[in-house]
Amino acid sequence: MAPTHLIVSEKLSQFSEVRYAMSTREGGVGEPPFGMNLSYHVGDEEANVIQNRKIFFESIGLDLTRAAFPLQCHSSKVKVAAEPGLYEECDALVTSMPDLPLVVTVADCLPIVLYDYRRTALGLVHAGWKGTAERITENAIRLMIQEFQTSTSHLIVYLGPSAGVCCYEVGPEVARQFPERVVERRAGKLYLDLKQANLQQLLSWGVRREQIEISSYCTICHPELFHSYRRDREQSGRMMAVASLISQTSE
Ligand SMILES: [Zn+2]
Repeated sequence: MAPTHLIVSEKLSQFSEVRYAMSTREGGVGEPPFGMNLSYHVGDEEANVIQNRKIFFESIGLDLTRAAFPLQCHSSKVKVAAEPGLYEECDALVTSMPDLPLVVTVADCLPIVLYDYRRTALGLVHAGWKGTAERITENAIRLMIQEFQTSTSHLIVYLGPSAGVCCYEVGPEVARQFPERVVERRAGKLYLDLKQANLQQLLSWGVRREQIEISSYCTICHPELFHSYRRDREQSGRMMAVASLISQTSE
């Protein structure tokens, strides 16, 4: 079976106690256009999705049955995950539990990992334009401070592949919900820079730029690598980003 192509973070890879990866379109058992699709809700064969999820989790050495999923509703709500399962009415989870993989499903929305290496606490955010406008990343930081006494000077942050400012055209009603500096105007059209908008939230909370890694990938203009709802609409599969703390064996 073809190995799953994974997107990882250089900065997070330096910590043995945290594991992070995002799937792509590659390495699945499904036929195009779905291929490596990990969502049950896009019209793909259920058996393929089951198999693809298995492949993805095995390829990163995490236990799918232990995973915690926010039930993503384009909100700005963040919850604390303490056990595997589904978490309703939220788009981000934070935890200090090892071996409890946090999972978000994406196809253009931005997956953001927050790792506090001092307190060994983790957050995973699904940031679309709505959640970003309502400051979901700030909400995740605030909850980590409250729950885990996180200091933002000890955070390592990874912003994964998402719709990029090169392609992510938005209407004026969306653009006006963001500061001007994160909206580009080209040939009379407006383009939202989702990564920049979330970066600004991180910086405003005292996370330094050198603590933050930003993927340069745009999901819309890399059809060979990523599913994109904006590009493919009903023919679009979904990818998963997963982040987990790993229990350290003391030998
Ligand atoms: Zn692009």
